[in-house]
Amino acid sequence: MAQDLVFAPLGGVGEIGMNAGLYGYGEGPKRRWLMVDCGVLFGDPAMTPGIDLIMPDIRFAKAQRANIEALVLTHAHEDHYGAVLDLWPELGCPVYATPFAAAMLEAKRVSERGAPKIDVRVIPQGGRFTAGPFEVEFVAVAHSIPESNALAIRTPAGTVVHTGDWKIDLTPVLGPATDEARLRAIGQEGVAAVIGDSTNALREGFSRSEKEVAESLKELIGSAPGRVAVTTFASNVGRLRAVAEAALACDRQVVVIGRAMHRALEVGRMLGYLEGIPEFLDADAYGYLPRDKVVALMTGSQGEPRAALARIANGDHPMVALAKGDRVIFSSRAIPGNEKAVGRVINGLIAGGAQVITDRTHFVHVSGHPHREELATLYGWLKPQLVVPVHGEELHMAEHLEAAKSAGAGSVARVRDGQMIRIAGGPAEIVDEVVSGRMLKDGRVLIYATEPTISERRKLAFAGVVSVALAIDQSGDVAGDPDVRFSGLPPRDDEGTPMLEVIRDTVLDCLDGLARPRRRDAALVASAIERAVRAELNLVWGKKPVCHVSVLGV
Ligand SMILES: [Zn+2]
Ligand SMILES: [Zn+2]
Repeated sequence: MAQDLVFAPLGGVGEIGMNAGLYGYGEGPKRRWLMVDCGVLFGDPAMTPGIDLIMPDIRFAKAQRANIEALVLTHAHEDHYGAVLDLWPELGCPVYATPFAAAMLEAKRVSERGAPKIDVRVIPQGGRFTAGPFEVEFVAVAHSIPESNALAIRTPAGTVVHTGDWKIDLTPVLGPATDEARLRAIGQEGVAAVIGDSTNALREGFSRSEKEVAESLKELIGSAPGRVAVTTFASNVGRLRAVAEAALACDRQVVVIGRAMHRALEVGRMLGYLEGIPEFLDADAYGYLPRDKVVALMTGSQGEPRAALARIANGDHPMVALAKGDRVIFSSRAIPGNEKAVGRVINGLIAGGAQVITDRTHFVHVSGHPHREELATLYGWLKPQLVVPVHGEELHMAEHLEAAKSAGAGSVARVRDGQMIRIAGGPAEIVDEVVSGRMLKDGRVLIYATEPTISERRKLAFAGVVSVALAIDQSGDVAGDPDVRFSGLPPRDDEGTPMLEVIRDTVLDCLDGLARPRRRDAALVASAIERAVRAELNLVWGKKPVCHVSVLGV
């Protein structure tokens, strides 16, 4: 059998988030593996109540632990590295990352109770390392966080370019532009396959530059009569730098509010990305600075209820308030699913008198992902034999396929989470399937999404819970009154009868309907009562709550 190169995504294909993929080289069970990225997906309160973070099910990688050479992180966005602290103990392999990603991971580790010490090896952009049969080169690409990389992964079967998240930005605010010369050179060597970012495949033309956003922000900060608050993704250090430069030019001082933003700025400063920028002030300075001398940088651009901006919008931040004439700039776009939460924050701010500027009316944000012309440009440089779209929903990936075809890619192929596709050393086709799925971080505990926890929680949210406890004596009579409790039910039915009474009567009627000898069978009584209570509530209320019945024989 030929030594082929395969790719098996465990997450990130069909959803934007929880990116994790495995490249395998070798023969069947003797394959060696290289894992790329290990990220999270943010939970949707309606679909996964109580769950903040969703992670890929990496059982397959765990089973291959002895054969995994390394985990490589393309960049420090949560959807690419957010699951490392939780899942790395299952892998135990060396983790390769740039200085920024390594420092962000370390900063997160020290702030998380019980987080493991990880074997991180720092590789600069442009650097290379070898792990088993894989020779990996970090190629600098522009994105919306410092030190984003495409990976050129060379194997004896051929070279695959894993684009990571990227765009073409000729004038980034921070760090190098996408390394066209290296990518062209890699294209000259020959590229068997590109595994590429589909996020913005629906958008025509080229994305605009961070430099242009910086200029626009400078105008908006310069023309503001009162205070200015700017919110954006904490990790977009280039954008934060642009705001700080604008503040400096307008003779305003920068106050930083929010833990995640402090953390990213500390790492950015340590690595020299804030050279020439004065020290930032903490939230306590906000109160004493004149209104036209302050720019507040804060977290909460996605409407997160615990972040600084949501608290300010609600008027319950201990140190920061906004008033009539103050300007709030959302230098961001709501991630799909967050629109309502962002809308609530915006409405709260406007109700409080602030002027709110978003990307709907002003040029205050650019995406970090390639539009169609950028995809075509990249395929022109790399001339890949095969393009496989990832990092997108079905629609994005379908558009990416079309864009790749019209850009002259040799061939295109689809892969889904849990499939294994051959990308070099033989025909491009699905060759196997691997275990895949989702894990949910529930409080401090990781559970499989297939466990009943969350569907139970959704049922509780929809119709509440009733519990009934009763004791039956030797002769089959109820000892005392049945104990009935409920949560999440309306207090009375639409005729005004208290729900407690409805349930208690149902329990007693149900017992009356059972022959005495049968009432000594606790399991039988419990299931009869459960059925009766749910049926009666369905009749009077139209919903069937969860119902727990305990029957004790005395
Ligand atoms: Zn991403
Ligand atoms: Zn990213």
